[in-house]
Amino acid sequence: MKYLTFSLPSDPQLRLGILHHDHVIELDQLMAGDDRWPRRLQMLDFLRRGPALWREAADVARTRLAQAPPGVGRDAVRWHAPIPRPAKNVFCLGLNYLRHLRESAAVRNRPADVPPVPVIFTKPPTSVTGPYDDIPLETAVTSELDYEVELGVIIGKPGKNIPRARAMEYVFGYTCINDVSARDLQRQHIQWFKGKSLDGACPMGPVIVSADEFGDPQAKRLRLCLNGDLRQDATTADMIFPVDVIIEQLSRGMTLEAGDVIATGTPEGVGMGRTPQEFMQDGDLVETEIEGIGTMRNRVVAHH
Ligand code: ZN
Repeated sequence: MKYLTFSLPSDPQLRLGILHHDHVIELDQLMAGDDRWPRRLQMLDFLRRGPALWREAADVARTRLAQAPPGVGRDAVRWHAPIPRPAKNVFCLGLNYLRHLRESAAVRNRPADVPPVPVIFTKPPTSVTGPYDDIPLETAVTSELDYEVELGVIIGKPGKNIPRARAMEYVFGYTCINDVSARDLQRQHIQWFKGKSLDGACPMGPVIVSADEFGDPQAKRLRLCLNGDLRQDATTADMIFPVDVIIEQLSRGMTLEAGDVIATGTPEGVGMGRTPQEFMQDGDLVETEIEGIGTMRNRVVAHH
């Protein structure tokens, strides 16, 4: 099942929907007449309700979609990030692909040592933006805005000290994330947080694909195009720490909750690693794609 958060052009109310081929169907409409379905649910509440409700929704949806495909065309709705405002910071992995680790180390004149445990930082909820929204470039704040395509993991079940062998039971689904990064701020502030946290620096979407439909998260192609030019093209098979190890490590002594988002790191090909370095400019179009999830299209727009 592919879940999304959308609104209608005439009404800013956020709605929970599913994407069926190229049609968006509001879950409230699909579940009409089912008195176990709590109406007006948004994505975070839906995730927190747990597996019984997800199964109910998926079962009803499959049956009714086969009967009469309703809904509207995907271009007729306004798309928001699937979780427009996460309850806490987005967890992120740094240096989780070997060739990206090497390109980053070369830029900073550091040894390209593989970290013994995942490098973890976060992005605040205010950085999250929609899959087709503009990415603001505040020229007074940064001149080194960079892109990073990443597989996003959506936690569905709360847990702590989760063993690797059970880690996948805690995953609701997967989405696509662009971990937009202000390299100059990362460098100046030593800790990465500030440079990773500008408004609009976390495009997410277009959908969350449920774990059962997505399949093996370590066998997906990820790509990023800048103005049509292929910049990143890799496979999640190359992660240094795969999703189950990330969940095991992140949950050590720290509770993960339904609706938590984990960005699992980016492969090589970022602007910082190019010779000469090349950062995003006003008017650039960034297309961020993960196999099985879809493509985000975000325009960089300068604010002076
Ligand atoms: Zn990243």
